[in-house]
Amino acid sequence: MSHLKGYAGSILRIDLSAKKIYETPTSEYADLFIGGRGIGCKIYWDEVPPEADAFHPENRMIFLTGPLCGIPGFAGARWQVCAKSPLHNRFSYCNLGGSWGVHLKFAGYDALVVHGKADRPIYLYINNGVVEIRDASRFWTKGAIDTREALKKELGNSFRIVSIGPAGENRVTFAILLADNDATGGSGLGAVMGSKNLKAIAVYGKGKVDVASPERAKELNKRVSELTKGMTLSLPTVFASDKIKKDSCYGCTHECIRSTFHGKSGRKGKFMCQAALFYQTRAQRYYGEDNEVPFEATKLCDNYGLDTHPIETMIMWLGRCYNANVLNEEQAGLPLSRIGSLEFVEKLIRDISRRDGFGDLLANGTHRAAEALGPSAKNLIKDYITRTGYNPVYGARMFITTALFYAMEPRLPIQQLHEISILGMLWAAQAAGHGNNYITSQVFRAIADRFWGSEIAADFSTYEGKALAAAKIQDRQYAKESLILCDFIWPIMHTEITEDHVGDPTLESKVYSAVTGKEIAEEGLYRIGERIFNLQRAILVREGHKGREDDTLEEFNFTVPLKGDFLNEDCLLPGEDGKTFSRKGMVVDREGFERMKDEYYRIRGWDVSTGLQTLRKLRELKLSA
Ligand code: SF4
Repeated sequence: MSHLKGYAGSILRIDLSAKKIYETPTSEYADLFIGGRGIGCKIYWDEVPPEADAFHPENRMIFLTGPLCGIPGFAGARWQVCAKSPLHNRFSYCNLGGSWGVHLKFAGYDALVVHGKADRPIYLYINNGVVEIRDASRFWTKGAIDTREALKKELGNSFRIVSIGPAGENRVTFAILLADNDATGGSGLGAVMGSKNLKAIAVYGKGKVDVASPERAKELNKRVSELTKGMTLSLPTVFASDKIKKDSCYGCTHECIRSTFHGKSGRKGKFMCQAALFYQTRAQRYYGEDNEVPFEATKLCDNYGLDTHPIETMIMWLGRCYNANVLNEEQAGLPLSRIGSLEFVEKLIRDISRRDGFGDLLANGTHRAAEALGPSAKNLIKDYITRTGYNPVYGARMFITTALFYAMEPRLPIQQLHEISILGMLWAAQAAGHGNNYITSQVFRAIADRFWGSEIAADFSTYEGKALAAAKIQDRQYAKESLILCDFIWPIMHTEITEDHVGDPTLESKVYSAVTGKEIAEEGLYRIGERIFNLQRAILVREGHKGREDDTLEEFNFTVPLKGDFLNEDCLLPGEDGKTFSRKGMVVDREGFERMKDEYYRIRGWDVSTGLQTLRKLRELKLSA
């Protein structure tokens, strides 16, 4: 393939307006930005005009893999998409699993950049270096799953397809992309694809990726398997376990919750993370027993091309509006008295996706819909919903450090949140005597010391040590999102097999070196992560983020006491000296938060009063001349 080890070597470029297909070399970006989010940010910075809105033809849809994609054993098959999002007309991104990204790379491309707008519905055909823009009129208005399956029937099962449903075509601000293995990507990027008249992208590749040091890679592979053995998490579910089957991404041998559920209706589909829990409580409450309605609801969202997470928060708001007599069934055109039923969720999903009636308003997101309905409706979202329409999972009232992630990211920063929250959940289970794991307070503190810069980062009764922890987590996660390594495995923070149970943060840099031949140590990799994080910050500032003034949290974080946390109802965390401590009933302390920002900006080398980057820092990171 490429002389660049770990890479295919080319970036495929398609201008839909001019019907032009060409390639540029990956080597222009690889050293400074690695791949994935890093290269995505650089292309976006260079090419997307700040004044263009998300649906402007000049917006880029940037599909990216990383140097570890296509190399089995490292959980590196994930791929990313970057573009300006219609959620807020700013840069955003999503991260998907499965095998579409691997096929793009095997077809000869590390990334695909699409810009312009087709003059009619089209799909892209990419088959081992043969690239064509093909008519997709017959698929327009069809579901994302239906389109994927129809294209596979036409082209052959070996092709991997990413497609959009009616929600993307109709520019619903929270429309998704859907690929094989039901991999989905959010941030409203399905609507960007729709705005380009791009219904689907079919890829098939037979190439392979050259590894610089196969022997070293093999050794590292073995080490990763040893360290991660037995490291599984499971989701609480009402479904029988024999209906749930493992469904791994390409070449991944690790244990994780990525599975497929086989429903009574004969339908099967992805079952993991938030989508696996979507509508579950409401359907149980409505029918009074366990049922498969939540699964059917998730599949409807997938096929229409809607993100289940913002729909969940929207349903909560609709229920509240109905109960408070702010909205009735006639106005909404929805059976609001039957929230929890299949009829309700079906009608809701269909109306939003097609922008029918009241669904047209909802298609712009809960915030804009509440704004349009007036102050009473707006009041009903004030205590629980983030700026981008999500639930504030693993939020600032619970973990403190995550306040900085929420304040600075253009979307729910799930990878950064997981670095703290998963450890927190394991510790809480152990402290409550539920889990049989080794994450004691002592282990938690030792991990914090090694990964987050100090033991006090594991004391959740204080704001001390949290700014440094946030910066370290961001640098590591941005490097990880550029390599791209899967969140379920990386970073390896704890392990059963060592005496102190502390994991190994040096592995990512070792794997990168073995695969690409570029020698780099842990700190060097974090330095690249810091560069990419700063580039994303610069993009957001260029698009209107005001620095310190906008680095804030929704008001409820400061005023509404925490009621519970996911899988940790009592909000238990280690406090001073590792003593068990509950954050239940707590809010974020405004002064503590501002002090934490001061410290954070200092660590970052930014201007403390404005929270803006300095030229000196940007030069130091090779982001400015
Ligand atoms: S750990 Fe799970 S989600 Fe991650 S790459 Fe492997 S199969 Fe995919």
